[in-house]
Amino acid sequence: MTDFSVFSALKLGEMIRNGEATSPEITEYFLNKEDNLNAFITKNENAVSEAKAVQKRIESGELTSPLAGVPVAVKDNICTRGIKTTCASKMLENFIPPYDATAVERLKKAGLIILGKTNMDEFAMGSTGESSYYGAVLNPLDNKKVSGGSSGGSASAVAGGLAPLALGSDTGGSVRLPAAYCGIYGLKPTYGAVSRRGLIAYASSLDTVGVMAECPSDAAELFNVISGRDEKDGTSVDSEKVDMNKRFSFKSLRIAALEGADASVFNALGADIETVRLSLIDYAAPAYYIIACAEASSNLARYDGIRFGYRSESAETLDELYVKSRSEAFGPEVKKRIMLGNFVLSSGYFEEYYLKALKVRNMLLSEVDALLEKYAFILAPVSVGGAPFLGESLADPLKMYKSDMYNVIANLTGLPAVSFPCGVQLIGKALSEEELLRAALEVNNNGI
Ligand code: GLN
Repeated sequence: MTDFSVFSALKLGEMIRNGEATSPEITEYFLNKEDNLNAFITKNENAVSEAKAVQKRIESGELTSPLAGVPVAVKDNICTRGIKTTCASKMLENFIPPYDATAVERLKKAGLIILGKTNMDEFAMGSTGESSYYGAVLNPLDNKKVSGGSSGGSASAVAGGLAPLALGSDTGGSVRLPAAYCGIYGLKPTYGAVSRRGLIAYASSLDTVGVMAECPSDAAELFNVISGRDEKDGTSVDSEKVDMNKRFSFKSLRIAALEGADASVFNALGADIETVRLSLIDYAAPAYYIIACAEASSNLARYDGIRFGYRSESAETLDELYVKSRSEAFGPEVKKRIMLGNFVLSSGYFEEYYLKALKVRNMLLSEVDALLEKYAFILAPVSVGGAPFLGESLADPLKMYKSDMYNVIANLTGLPAVSFPCGVQLIGKALSEEELLRAALEVNNNGI
């Protein structure tokens, strides 16, 4: 049998269109591949029959997307009709959504095949892929190390040859961090460029659906499939489709590099790099965690044991039902964040923490906007340090939270960013996905 994992997603799409391979054949290959990374929570049992239907529509000329017939893995906090969507939590262990997220609707419309749902940190809270109810995700590059989080399963699946492409979500780095730890590309789009409808909310003002792929061209095509205004998400915006045919040149391009970012790749390509300091950098992670936890405490209040999700069997009163259902079904990281969120929103602390964090967010936006007036991109590390060993991080949560300090810049400001396998990221102006992805392709084409 052909080893389909060596081909890019676009190449697989081309092979399907040329009749060199079929969608059911490719889907079956990925579906049956042993998941030795704990990357998937659920596989789509109907994937092959869905691929057969898609194959016919490709042959009849009805489906023309370059990715038609190509399988894709979807993070388990993105709703898929008829397929369990657990957020890697006991709370949603048996939740089967009655509808598809808009991003998933668009995947299906273009003829991509949903391979399965990928493992993640519970409710997307974490940086290592270890806080899952279903156990830690392993890093395909080194099984003793974490995959990164929270979209660890998506990153491991793509890097480990278990899926050609994947969707993740990025609230504070969750696409870029695991992508970098596993050696693939990750795109965190501009806030609103991809509809959030059907993405189970963590921190709504920061949440984005992102893409993960082995190469920038695959990421661009997947972004094109899912992006654009959605009437059902009032925060979504229209964006131009990314055109990867134009070449990108780094010659004399001004890039602002934050301290600690390795600029050698961009230097070699002729970019004009200047090191800058963001005066607010030390406040970025604290502001992010205050805002994210505040929003999470409100978003997760809906899991009350009554409407949907886990319900405790031993409760005798209404209050007990709330308390027991939530105590029994949320894991420690989620509980900690709900408590922190409620604390920073409580009277007396609201002004001291939450409002201050919002001010920092605004000031950071002004500072970053001013930099992007002068420079084409901001270059930053993805994380502080490389992928930790499994079991190392949860014992020192503050260190883990701090390691997100560079990633959260793009979320707090709503700007797009692309992460490179070597562990750096470029942050661009709003809706500059095309420039970012073409820049990534130029790096990739030069074999760096
Ligand atoms: N590590 C960050 C957090 O734990 C990012 C999460 C995310 O982007 N979903 O909140």
